Amino acid sequence: MPISHKVWQLLEHRNNYLGPEGEPTRVLANWRYTKDEDGVVWLVLDRAGESTNTLSEAVLAELQIVLEDLRTLNARALVIRSGKKGGFAAGADIRDFRGIRDAGEVERHIQRAHDIIDRLAALAMPTVAVVHGHCLGGGLELALACRYRIAVTGASFGFPEILLGLHPGLGGTFRLTSLIDPVEAMTMVLTGRTVHTKKARAIGLVDEVVEERHVRQAITAAIAGEIRRSSGGWKASIFGVGPARRMAAARMRAEAEKNAPKQHYPAPYRLIDLWEEHGGDPRAMQRAEIRSFSELLVGETAQHLIRVFFLREGLKSLAKGESGISRVHVIGAGTMGGDIAAWCAARGLRVTLTDLDPRAIARAVGRASAFFDKRLHSSLERRDALDRLLPDFDGGGLAKADLVIEAVAEKAEVKRRVYEAIAPGMKPSAILATNTSSIPLEVLREGLPFPDRFLGLHFFNPVTRMELVEIVAHDGASEETLARGRAFCGDISRLPAPVKSAPGFLVNRALTPYLVEAFIMFDEGLPKEAIDRAARNFGMPMGPLELADRVGLDICLEVARMLKERSSDPMPEIPLWLVHKVEAGETGRKAGRGFYVYDEKGVPRKEETKVADDPQIPRADAETADRLILPMLNTLVRCLREGIVADEEIVDGAMIFGTGFAPFRGGPLLYARERGASDIIAKLRRLEEKHGERFAPDEGWQSIMTR
Ligand code: NAD
Repeated sequence: MPISHKVWQLLEHRNNYLGPEGEPTRVLANWRYTKDEDGVVWLVLDRAGESTNTLSEAVLAELQIVLEDLRTLNARALVIRSGKKGGFAAGADIRDFRGIRDAGEVERHIQRAHDIIDRLAALAMPTVAVVHGHCLGGGLELALACRYRIAVTGASFGFPEILLGLHPGLGGTFRLTSLIDPVEAMTMVLTGRTVHTKKARAIGLVDEVVEERHVRQAITAAIAGEIRRSSGGWKASIFGVGPARRMAAARMRAEAEKNAPKQHYPAPYRLIDLWEEHGGDPRAMQRAEIRSFSELLVGETAQHLIRVFFLREGLKSLAKGESGISRVHVIGAGTMGGDIAAWCAARGLRVTLTDLDPRAIARAVGRASAFFDKRLHSSLERRDALDRLLPDFDGGGLAKADLVIEAVAEKAEVKRRVYEAIAPGMKPSAILATNTSSIPLEVLREGLPFPDRFLGLHFFNPVTRMELVEIVAHDGASEETLARGRAFCGDISRLPAPVKSAPGFLVNRALTPYLVEAFIMFDEGLPKEAIDRAARNFGMPMGPLELADRVGLDICLEVARMLKERSSDPMPEIPLWLVHKVEAGETGRKAGRGFYVYDEKGVPRKEETKVADDPQIPRADAETADRLILPMLNTLVRCLREGIVADEEIVDGAMIFGTGFAPFRGGPLLYARERGASDIIAKLRRLEEKHGERFAPDEGWQSIMTR
């Protein structure tokens, strides 16, 4: 069946397209369609006033109008595609999810949305979703309600709802588990991972993958019933029976517990229950999906994770603008410098990496290569990333760099000597950034001929996982330099948090009392596993002692000493045995030994069961957690009061994206607000009486209470 050129134009991504002349066309605010001479209705989703398609209530209400029209249009087939360049649709509009409290009302709304999508799914005519770019959440649910899915090369599919403390709510749970191997479907939803076209075709999520120029042909074949539809295959029928599902569900729960404990993250378990109980019965699963989604949406975890989503958006919005940076020169190829260089190369920048020690460069390039192998999709991408990362044994990359990042040892004299040596060789427009963890920039910029082009870009460990970069200002930095630093974060998909230069900046200053308290508790005789478990039960991704090992005990010690020397924060004495430990080379994971002993893969040996079984060890994790967490909150409140950081959103975002602070709590300051500042002050006072002035509540709590 030929497709007329005019209709074809409609399917190309041209904004404000009003339909080909002479064709029967209807243009709604978010959708437009044309029926061609063969009776095929070409429907384009093009959400008004937005760069990305999302499925708002208005979009679905208009879809209902279109479906109503189809009854009188005498159509033979329906093709749905997106009018946006970026992709098909990105799911629900998360703005609509904020602050919702009434589960019953949500249920009614969702039920109406389901009725509309069900009508699409029930159409007797062939329906084809043509997907380019991203197709996520509600967008994928729309595509799943069509009989065929044709993917344009480069498309990606996923259900990211789990990351928001939800599961799919517009039919995704029962449609995906009945379309493809249910275990594959559940894994996709439970991990929130995106699948690309090749995998999508292999698992049967899409029926055809074609280049844009062959889409026309593929649609014609689909409408004619000439492409083979995917099916869940034999696995779908196995999991149609209860016992098989029960066994698989038990495995899924055990897997989920590793990353998302049930008491903090209910959504994965609700989803597994849904499937275990109702898999194989789409109607029952649909009803249960609607109820479960509505309850999750009004729950604390989802509302907090939705806040985290907007905290990320807030930080991202600070990264707008042009950085003017395409070449980066990294000095120091250790843990941080090596990983920063690899990350920048993976994100498309040309990077030169230098170090006093050539073996450090070689090791860093080896690590980068392993990282590219793991994270980049094609061998071409991997080769290009490696090509962009140049080991630089004589520092030749300096002269061409737009940005120089210094990541040498955490010693002011060492860093200043490096600046003295490189300053004359830098381009006049280039900026110099230090990755220092804690040294005030006023100390480092002394003697620098261009303090205006100097700033802190403080990355977090591991660079590939922690999204935050503190953008550290100082009294001599120009606004242009700081703006370029923030924009650079946007270039490399990192989140900038602007902070003033003060000892430890924001994140490390708040993290240090948390770590030091753990050292003191260890000193008091509490087993390391019990201390770490208390923090994990609170929701931290790893305990403080394991974290200290990961950061490096030598670095922790330097930061703690520096904070004790330079900041007004009440810091306890650092236990002497810790100093001896570092002097003996037991610096943590990198040395194979710190608080824990590490195997060759860097996994710590723990004696969790011994700790769990010992009645002497307090199970009062909440008490232990308070001793760890409250000093951190106290310091954050102090930083706000001192103006180190502009607002509570940046504080909460920085702690989540820089340290992994329990995301389901929505941020440390939100946690403090919800628990109640007066409760926290009272608890701090009790701790102060028992353990000393380091717990004295900061006066900044007053403004938290009154705001
Ligand atoms: P590291 O010891 O792993 O690496 C430092 C590297 O710098 C070494 O390879 C060393 O040979 C090299 N070096 C030393 N002097 C040099 C010089 N004059 N010229 C060139 N190379 C030189 O240290 P790291 O953990 O990567 O830390 C580097 C910086 O990043 C420090 O300022 C640290 O505070 C900061 N930082 C560390 C972490 C962390 O978790 N490790 C996190 C954030 C920031």
